[in-house]
Parts: sequence; C-alpha cells; structure tokens
Amino acid sequence: MRRRRVEATRDVTSSASKKTEDRLRRSEAYLAEAQRLTHTATVAYNATEILYFSDEAFPMFGFDPLQGLPSREAVWRRIHPDDVDTVNEKIEYALREKKSVQNEFRLKLPDGIVKHVDADILPVFSATGELVEIIATAVDVTERKRAEDTLRRGEAWLAQAQRLSHTGTWVLDGTTKRFLYWSDESYRIWGFDPLQGLPSRDDMWGRIHPDDQERLWKEVQDALREQRDFFEEFRILLPDGTVKYLEANTHHEFSPLGALLEVVCTNVDVTERKRAQDEREQLRQLEADLAHINRVSTMGELAASLSHEILHPIATARNNARAGMRFLEMNPPNLDEAREALGCVVRDADRAKDIVGRIRNQIKRTPPRKMRFGLNEAVNEVIVMVQSAIAKNGISFSTRLMDGLVPVQGDRVQLQQVLVNLILNADEAMSSIEDGTRELSIRTEQSQTGGILVAVHDSGPGIDPVNLERVFEPFYTTKTSGIGMGLSICQTIINGHGGRLWMSANEPRGAIFQFTLPAVQENS
Ligand code: ADP
Repeated sequence: MRRRRVEATRDVTSSASKKTEDRLRRSEAYLAEAQRLTHTATVAYNATEILYFSDEAFPMFGFDPLQGLPSREAVWRRIHPDDVDTVNEKIEYALREKKSVQNEFRLKLPDGIVKHVDADILPVFSATGELVEIIATAVDVTERKRAEDTLRRGEAWLAQAQRLSHTGTWVLDGTTKRFLYWSDESYRIWGFDPLQGLPSRDDMWGRIHPDDQERLWKEVQDALREQRDFFEEFRILLPDGTVKYLEANTHHEFSPLGALLEVVCTNVDVTERKRAQDEREQLRQLEADLAHINRVSTMGELAASLSHEILHPIATARNNARAGMRFLEMNPPNLDEAREALGCVVRDADRAKDIVGRIRNQIKRTPPRKMRFGLNEAVNEVIVMVQSAIAKNGISFSTRLMDGLVPVQGDRVQLQQVLVNLILNADEAMSSIEDGTRELSIRTEQSQTGGILVAVHDSGPGIDPVNLERVFEPFYTTKTSGIGMGLSICQTIINGHGGRLWMSANEPRGAIFQFTLPAVQENS
C-alpha cells in the first residue's frame, strides 16, 4: 500500500515535469517560428565560445546546423571587414556601461552575399558582477535597407528631375489649408528658404504677380466650385523684383461628400522658354518687316531707275510734239516737218516703252539659279516670315501641302519672293474688308501637266473681271501707296522658271493667285 503511494507520487511528479517540458518545448517552437517569420536570430556567447545559436542564426550567418555550433572566431569572420571594429567597440561599450546597445552592421558571407543586420547586444552579469554571457538578438534588415535605398535613390532622382525640368511640387491640406509638403525645387522657384519651414498660403499668394492675382484667384474658385483640376499660366514677383512665368497644374482631391481633402500642384518655371518665345516672335516680326522692306525697296529701286530713264524720252517727245505743233501753226502749215516731228514723238514713245521692257528684261536676263530644293520647306520658311503680319490683321491661316519631299528646281529666293508678294497682296486685300472672315490658305498640288501648282487663296474683295489681266501690267495699282510692279515681276520670275502665273476668282469671294512650276527633270 505504501509502495503504491510512493509510485503514485512518482507518477504525479513525472507527469508534472512532462507538462513543464511540453510547455517549454511548445514555447521554444513558438519562439523559433517567431524568429523565422521576423528573420530574427539569437546568439549567446562569452569571451571564448558561442554558447547558443538559434535556428534562424544558422542561415543568417551562413552556417550549417548539422555541423554543430560554430566557433566564436568563425562567427566574427562573418562580420563585414569594414564593420568589425565598430561592432567590437559597441560590445566593449556595452560591457563597460553594463547595458544593452543597439548596433547596425553588415555580414559578409563566404559566397559574397552582404546582409544588413540590426542587433541588440545585452551583456548578462552574475550577482557578483561576473560576465555570464552576452546575448545578441539580430534582425535581418537587408530587405528594408534595400527598399529604403531604392526609395532614397528614387527621391534623389525625382529631385534631380524636378531641378532639370524646373518643376516644383507642393501639397496642401484641404481642411486646414496648410501646406503639407514643398519640394526643394518649389522652394527654389518661389524663392522661399527651406530652413524657414513650410510657407503659409498667404506667403505664397503674396508672391503671385499683382496683375495676375485676381484672374488666378477666380480660376481657383471656379475650379473648386466645379470640383475639377485646373491648368493656369501666371507670373510671380519675388522680393528682389525678379519676375518668373509659371505654369501650374493643380489637382483637387475631394471626398465623396464633396469636401476638399488635398491640393496637389506642380509648378513649371517657364521663364526661359517664354523669353526664347518672345525673342523668336521678335525675330519673326523682324523677318516679316525685312521681307516687306525688301519688297518695297526692290520696287522702289525699279521705280526710281524707271522714272529716271523714262524722263528723258518723255522730255524729247514733249519738245518734238511742240515743234510739230509749231510746224502745223505755220501759214501754210509745214506738213513734212510736222510729220517728221510726230515721227520723232512716236520714236520717243517707243524708246520709253523699250526702257520699261529693258528693265523687265534685266530681271528676266539674270538667269534664275536652277537649284533643286524641297518646295514644302521653302513654303514653310515663307510662312514663318509672314506669320506675324498675317496674325496682326486677324487672318486665319491654313495650309494644304503635298505629302513628302516635293522637289522643285529653280531660284529658291526668287520663288520665295513671289510667294511673299502673293501672300502680302492677299493680306493687304483682306485687311481692307470690314465684314466676313479673313481666310488665307496656301496649297501645293500636282499640276495637270505633271508639274507642281502653288496657290494662294484669300477671302478678300477679289478683282473685278474687267481688270483681271491688268493686275499683271506694270504700274497697275489700286493702292494709294502702291507701285503696281509686284505682280508684273512675279510673272516675269515664274515665266523665267518655265511656269505660268494667273489669277482666278475664289468662292464665295476673294482671289486665287496660282502658279505652276514644271516637273523636275530626273537627270538634272
Ligand atoms: P501693288 O501691290 O503695289 O499694288 P501689285 O502688282 O502687286 O502691285 O498688285 C497690283 C494690283 O492688283 C493691286 O493694287 C490690287 O488692286 C490687285 N491685287 C493684287 N493682289 C490682289 C488680291 N489678292 N486681291 C485683290 N486684289 C489684288
């Protein structure tokens, strides 16, 4: 009976210790699982050897669990050579101060893999102050580190992209109306100091150019009311007087109930582009003026030399006519002399006609340079030259050019001069009309004879059919300051190129001036 009691006691004791063992095993398993999931390893060691290496420590440090516990030296050899000194220093500090320290360092495994670990080093002392062991708990933070690096690099690239493209970003909290974020480039563009912290909304509005504030404010309010984004161009005025042109793209984020949550805005500093555009515009204006001056001066020169040369035969014609009159007034009239004098008048008149013809021939005689060039390109150059003149008169402008490279042969400058003349004539004709749209169109197409047809269509007053042919006559003009030589010279140039220039009526109104150029000879 007693024996049985003893046995029973033993049974109770063994089942209690079994329970404790189970619990211990289970909690160890939980711990191992937690370590595995969190990539956490525990290593315990003293001055000479490794005392404990958790399951997760083996793969972390690159050891095979089947080989048993690694030596202290072997573990230390796995610490990245560049970090080993700092690791040792930190451990000494922990021992000296008798407290745990945090330490981030790298491991370098034999296969070259580098891992980042974040370790907590805890020295454990006995009651008498002797060091029992050091427990290091290390977390593998390689992934986090990589993600951080990528993020940091991404941020650096973004900042660089913002700097290069002069684009700044800011974000505003829709509820508090305070800024949440200003990118470096935003600070640069708006001239705020990042060290002073985020500017306020008033600070920002204070920098918007006074002449643009009202317009911009209205646009912002409209966009908010209509719950939409907006794009706006405006100027800012910095305290040192610098004016910058910005393009702002603003996105408004609303809650489903319509409350403004966030405003995200990108500002592009387009000052340089704007300046270049202005310069280009000025250049275009200059080119147009030049084209005009060129045209006028060519005409002016011609007129001057014509009038000079024509004056002489006119003067002699006048003298001869006077003499003729005198011979007729004689009693009896001297008809022979009168006939001769009148013959001289006819001769003088013929001479005047010859002079006009000679000058026109002069243009004709300077043989046009026969270069091969792309027609569309030449037409586009002319358009650039005349663009501002056309825009100034509120004329809408269109082109319908043949596709591809359209080779023509001739004097590029002379042909461009013809086109400039036709366009400016159309421009002048249309600016004289008050109502109706002003439309100008330049077209190039294949001509019926296999060459090329270039046409300038306008919606001006057109030309009275009676005067259709007269417009090409020298000195025919209906303008107060016109010379009437433009179309005549144009015709001479086109004829010199083996083409034809003519005019027809446009529908519903206006004129079409068009010319042909022969097909380019392939072997030329
Ligand atoms: P100018 O321009 O000096 O008058 P032009 O020989 O170029 O000399 O033109 C002669 C005349 O032809 C102009 O005065 C004008 O009456 C008429 N003309 C030319 N082009 C047009 C046009 N597109 N529409 C209406 N009339 C035109």
